[in-house]
Amino acid sequence: METVSLAVEARELPTPLHQVERYAGGAGYRLPDGLREQAEAALSRAQELAQPRLVHAAHPVAAVVAGRGLELADGELVRAPDRVLESRPTFLVAAVCTLGAALDQEAKVLSQGRNAVAGLFLDAAGVALMEALVQHCRQILRQAAGQRGLHCGCSFGPGVVGMPLEAGPQLFDHVDADLIGVSCDSRGIMRPLKSTAIWLPWTTEPPRPGEQFYKCQTCQLTSCQYRLASPPSA
Ligand code: SF4
Repeated sequence: METVSLAVEARELPTPLHQVERYAGGAGYRLPDGLREQAEAALSRAQELAQPRLVHAAHPVAAVVAGRGLELADGELVRAPDRVLESRPTFLVAAVCTLGAALDQEAKVLSQGRNAVAGLFLDAAGVALMEALVQHCRQILRQAAGQRGLHCGCSFGPGVVGMPLEAGPQLFDHVDADLIGVSCDSRGIMRPLKSTAIWLPWTTEPPRPGEQFYKCQTCQLTSCQYRLASPPSA
């Protein structure tokens, strides 16, 4: 298994202020004028503190086991949603992205001190940056798939689309996340906290129209206050 490791400039990750608004107060929340400057400052500080990095490793799929998952060449069975199995992937990529620990540490200190609003905005800016980093990771993996004449399918992962968080260690067994300082315990809790792990299938089938979902459209948390019906605008 060869793991590819990359560092990314935080300011190159498109992070509009309305994403910070969303993760500070919910999908319909709009900042009052008096708080806009504070949210902008938090985004700028988050971009200074973040150390965006990612790793990925591609694994050949030995067999698609209907109703169950994808059997990798090493014999491991990775549970996968039906729509992934139907696309009959030839490779499954394990990827881990992180912003590092500094941003979380400062947000925690602010929240526990006298500036809870600054802490809230800094944390929200971190979540928005994390989403942009995962998007960037998908773009890199789309290009890598294209170099092999393949296409990216829908990503899935621990904690989303019915996959339990406890499936995290299996993913971490398939990519060297130590290279970017990310660990995952037996419960699937990642450190640093602003980290995300996904499986991404590569298939010979091009995506059909309407098949490229925004994350909320495949998420089962229907009552989530951050839920969007369509991808956020740039
Ligand atoms: S609905 Fe799901 S994917 Fe969307 S913001 Fe909430 S938890 Fe995240």
